[in-house]
Amino acid sequence: MTTQIATSPAVTTTTDYDVVVVGAGFAGLYLLHQLRALGLSAHAYDAADNVGGTWYWNRYPGARCDITSVDYAYSFDADLEADWQWSEKYATQPEILAYLSHVADRFDLRSDITFSTRVDSAKWDEDAGIWNITVAGGDTVTARFYVMATGCLSLPKSPDVPGIENFAGPIYTTGTWPHEGVDFTGKRVAVIGTGSSGIQSIPLIAEQAKSVTVFQRTPNFSFPAHNGPFPTERAAAMIDDRDAYHQAAKKSGAGVPLKVTELNALDATEEERNARFEDVWAAGDLIGIMTVYADTLNNPDANKLFADFVRNKIRSIVADPVTAEILCPTTYPIASKRVCLDTNYYQTFNLDHVHLIDLHNTPITTVTASGIDTADASSEFDAIVLATGFDAMTGALVAVDIEGRDGLTLKQKWADGVQTYLGLATGGFPNLFTVTGPGSPSVQSNMAVSIEQHVEWICDTITHMDANELLTIEPTPGAEEGWSNHVNDFANITLLPIAKSWFNGSNVAGKNHQYLPYVGGVGGYRTICDEIVAADYLGFVFNDDQCNDGVIRRMQPDVNIMLEFLATLGLPPFETLEVDAARELSAALSDQSPAGPEVGEVLDGTLPGAVGDLGYRLYRPDTAGPHPIVAYFHGGGWVFGSATSDDSFCRDLCDRAGVIIVSVDYRHGPEDRFPAAADDGFAATQWLAQNAESLGGIAGQLAVAGWSAGGNVAAVVCQLAKDAGGPTLAGQCLLTPVVDGGFDWPSYEETAEGYVLTRSLMEWFLNHYVDDADRTSPKMAPLRATDLSGLPPAMVVTCEFDPLRDQGNAYAKALADAGVPTAHVQAHGQIHISVPAVGQIVSSIWVREEMGQALRGFFA
Ligand code: FAD
Ligand code: NAP
Repeated sequence: MTTQIATSPAVTTTTDYDVVVVGAGFAGLYLLHQLRALGLSAHAYDAADNVGGTWYWNRYPGARCDITSVDYAYSFDADLEADWQWSEKYATQPEILAYLSHVADRFDLRSDITFSTRVDSAKWDEDAGIWNITVAGGDTVTARFYVMATGCLSLPKSPDVPGIENFAGPIYTTGTWPHEGVDFTGKRVAVIGTGSSGIQSIPLIAEQAKSVTVFQRTPNFSFPAHNGPFPTERAAAMIDDRDAYHQAAKKSGAGVPLKVTELNALDATEEERNARFEDVWAAGDLIGIMTVYADTLNNPDANKLFADFVRNKIRSIVADPVTAEILCPTTYPIASKRVCLDTNYYQTFNLDHVHLIDLHNTPITTVTASGIDTADASSEFDAIVLATGFDAMTGALVAVDIEGRDGLTLKQKWADGVQTYLGLATGGFPNLFTVTGPGSPSVQSNMAVSIEQHVEWICDTITHMDANELLTIEPTPGAEEGWSNHVNDFANITLLPIAKSWFNGSNVAGKNHQYLPYVGGVGGYRTICDEIVAADYLGFVFNDDQCNDGVIRRMQPDVNIMLEFLATLGLPPFETLEVDAARELSAALSDQSPAGPEVGEVLDGTLPGAVGDLGYRLYRPDTAGPHPIVAYFHGGGWVFGSATSDDSFCRDLCDRAGVIIVSVDYRHGPEDRFPAAADDGFAATQWLAQNAESLGGIAGQLAVAGWSAGGNVAAVVCQLAKDAGGPTLAGQCLLTPVVDGGFDWPSYEETAEGYVLTRSLMEWFLNHYVDDADRTSPKMAPLRATDLSGLPPAMVVTCEFDPLRDQGNAYAKALADAGVPTAHVQAHGQIHISVPAVGQIVSSIWVREEMGQALRGFFA
């Protein structure tokens, strides 16, 4: 079939197909079906000699799905679903392959697939606006669109075991297992690798073999699959209302319609926790394991509780305590490597003919012709099984020599890090789509659901383009960079990137380390994809010039969750309240903040302010003193807050910086207006300088810090100290400070509403504190001071979604321009209140760490 396209009003190009697809697994098959339904000409190629992808290649003993079969299937056709009955909860490889074969027959897909044909290269023809795709043997076909449905786990890792080429016997790789099967009867078998493939195959190989020796580098956490019939209540839910069932899967986190708990492990009693852990152990469900508690994947302490539980289970199953300890993972959080589901895995190590070698203690020195030598032993084997995994997510993509615009190949583009937009497309490669590519939920989800969504999105996009006579599509650099940031932001608020694993490329020598899948969940991801389409394909450029450019998610994910939570509380805006009511509300919110870290000592006292005593709270580190002192001024718009209202933040700073934090009260408006706060701040600083030693501090080692209005007080105190010739201050640490009394800043417009600190709240604060006439006084607006030179070294933190952002940025620049050593952290995706939110916002921990380091540095 040939297709005619107009590449410009003047030029018409003929292509062999509208779309060429690489791969005939779950993704390629559904793509072919959908593209045909749209009336497009499409052709697929697969290196395999039949359909099935993963389930064609991975025929090792014990290969099964680890997502319940009913869910790990297509949902697009009710009749297909009704006609196919899965025989068990987790289907075997032959059954899944039979299902995919049935799909291919049912929709007559094979006629548009060329098997046993590897795609070697693809080149974008800039002039014609088409792809030239070359297959093994040299034949080239052309297409308007080129889709890589090549799978995330389809390129087995090259065998990186020293001396493997020496072995004279057979070597079997789980990912390319012989179709005729392998009979291990009477054989001495070595298995290298204990990921899901090793864990599934070892018990069955041990049933046949004379002996099995497992070479384990890193142990995995594995749970009993408890395979059997599909849970009846879930089967019933599907039969009752299949549409609702699938909709729930599409909106879920992992692509399986299971209710996910909001309970935290750390809030539960030990008894409650253990009961829940036991339930999960008994259920054998991967999603239930991953979501056992809401804090398991993001709080190391919660994670450890679960990991300890599983380690104890391993110890209770494996009879030999030394073997049990070797099988217990200890070097990474549970679930940061993919958790495995097994049948009798740990029990297998109780068999006399099964041996475990701990490669951490005794690495393989070489494979010999007849066996394997480790650091302390030589063993003879008849066969070696490599269950060593895959060059995942990017391997099969860059294995094809894909050349986009200006001769750039995909491999070159991704050499220093993968960038995609949505895991669906990448800039410089027009009309190229990747199904479940890096940056999409893919392998962190039920792949069947993710594949269907990607295929449908691609087909909808091609339909949109054809309807609007759009010839090319690709993401913009800004959209792609923004998406990559969002993918990283989401991964970084979890513990998932910690383990060395194929998820972050660390299983392949020389591969860039980067967490590849998007962990924001399939539901959230689908919403994003839909939003992008609704916003005229935000971040995509059509025909090289039609573009609604932009970034879809800039907010840090946990900050967004915080905002959504606050919205559910329905709190009145502070500025609509009387001052007393606003103070009460602020105090109530402070009281509910999580406790900060333990510090050595906390004590309350009073010190003399400008006109009377002021309360203070002192936080002493848990290390031998004396320590430097930091005078800290709380946030609250000069109207509310107190020496104790930023308690968790002060603890955190004290802990990170190893300094005494003295959080000082200062008088508030409207009762005590400008310059009361500044005068009190300065008086308190003078007193701390004079009394440092009696507080356990070090004479002459004093700095100031503050947040928001407190940042204003701290900055002003530095200027007053300079003008007064003392006290000498070692530094100023200013978190989102007010440094100007005016509103003529773009950030007051851009983030006027919606991020807690609003423009109208700032107006309310300023009105309560300072007369219009005083708003340009340096004692109110330190940015307006004529000479900033000679001020103490500064750390200024500004947040992207903060009305005060631009004035803070301007102050950091003005200080640096005046020769003040200035560190400036611009915290992307943060809001005015998210950096001090200790125990709530993981994504701002690094900012607090920078502040802690800056405080330490002031006294170094
Ligand atoms: P694949 O099934 O990998 O198919 C890709 C096809 O592309 C392959 O047939 C390959 O030959 C072909 N190909 C690649 N490059 C080329 C080329 N250059 N030229 C020609 N052909 C090429 N996911 C789950 O959600 N649940 C599970 O339970 C689950 N179990 C798994 C078990 C195993 C053993 C493995 C390895 C993976 C498992 N996965 C599971 C992930 C699984 O890969 C996906 O669920 C799904 O099968 C991927 O389908 P796909 O069509 O995208 O890719
Ligand atoms: P894997 O998880 O990457 O495991 C590979 C194993 O081999 C690891 O134990 C690894 O150790 C070890 N290894 C790699 N190179 C080695 C070397 N040179 N020397 C010694 N040991 C080496 O790969 P996999 O088991 O094939 O699984 C990959 C993914 O496929 C799974 O995570 C899952 O998503 C999917 N899968 C699913 C199922 C299922 O149950 N449905 C089954 C199989 C696969 P280190 O950890 O130290 O690197």
